Amino acid sequence: MKKIPLVDLKAQYAAHRAGIDAAIARVLENTAFVGGREVADFEAAFAEFTGAAHAIGCGNGTDALALALKALGVGPGDEVVVPAMTFIATAEAVEMVGATPVFCDADADTLLMTAASVEPVLTARTKAVIPVHLYGQPVQMGPLMELARSRGLQVVEDCAQAHGATIGGAPVGSFGALACYSFYPGKNLGAYGDGGAVTTNDDALADWVRRAKDHGRQTKYTHEFAGVNSRLDGLQAAVLGAKLPHLSAWTEARRSVAALYDEALRGAPVNPVAQHGDARSVYHLYVVRVAERDRVLAGLRERGVMAGVHYPVPLHQQPAYADRPHAPLPNSEAAAPEILSLPLYPELAHADARRVVDALLEVV
Ligand SMILES: *Cc1c(COP(=O)(O)O)cnc(C)c1O
Repeated sequence: MKKIPLVDLKAQYAAHRAGIDAAIARVLENTAFVGGREVADFEAAFAEFTGAAHAIGCGNGTDALALALKALGVGPGDEVVVPAMTFIATAEAVEMVGATPVFCDADADTLLMTAASVEPVLTARTKAVIPVHLYGQPVQMGPLMELARSRGLQVVEDCAQAHGATIGGAPVGSFGALACYSFYPGKNLGAYGDGGAVTTNDDALADWVRRAKDHGRQTKYTHEFAGVNSRLDGLQAAVLGAKLPHLSAWTEARRSVAALYDEALRGAPVNPVAQHGDARSVYHLYVVRVAERDRVLAGLRERGVMAGVHYPVPLHQQPAYADRPHAPLPNSEAAAPEILSLPLYPELAHADARRVVDALLEVV
């Protein structure tokens, strides 16, 4: 029996090999391994794709978040609100700048951060909030921006799972002062190694991030401040540049698999994570809630369906944060043992997607 993987990076390479190989060869010929034309070209193309005035490539999505926070002056003594339902990188970036992550709960239906979930954890020390567009679905940014404005909070958007998603017609990344992307290979736009980007419409913030990720350089050997080394390299930029023109079609393919899952699961004892009417998810993941999740996961694997769990332990319950005082976060704690991510990638054939739901309905 053919296995259906959670993600399949080989299928994408096979379909676009010529363009990707040519892009890599160009970098080798030009030996532009750090910086150079491929990086500048990709940054310009990605800025256009996101609708931001500036896109600055950097080493990975975690560094992108830390650079964005630092650009806003977030540091020791500050608190930053992050959702408990996210990948740990969102919180790690806060620690990287010396600030303290404070976890908030998720909406019971969408599992996303909301203004209502942020408000109870705000203190006099809260400096910023990081909405995470989890699973590819945008957070309801209108009420969240309203709260941020009224409380004087900075907003940095974590778009690591949401390249190209929109809410009320507006692209993710267009709300906060800065937005951060990851190009980890399994993300919707993935490099062939690590990569990330910060986007912003603010010229001064863009200029600061551009220098900070390259040793605080003004010119080659003038350093106005001590930065870090977190550059997007030429090979990754070339691969990303070759892939970006296909991203919208890949998103459509993801959405059509998601629609098939929605339709096939209607009425079943399987609850897909709710979607806002005005959100256009890019379905980084298709997440459902089921009773006896671990039994269901094992049953799917026996049938060759490699489902996953994103993420099994909310951040406030991770060993890394066990010593921190925190209020209970009931929606996150209730969801964690029930969530299951079904296989989803642009090249997933609809016949295979049917096999996924058939297996799931049989197991539940
Ligand atoms: C992947 C991811 C990151 C981190 O990106 P890296 O490139 O792996 O450092 C941050 N936030 C979220 C929500 C992610 O999914």
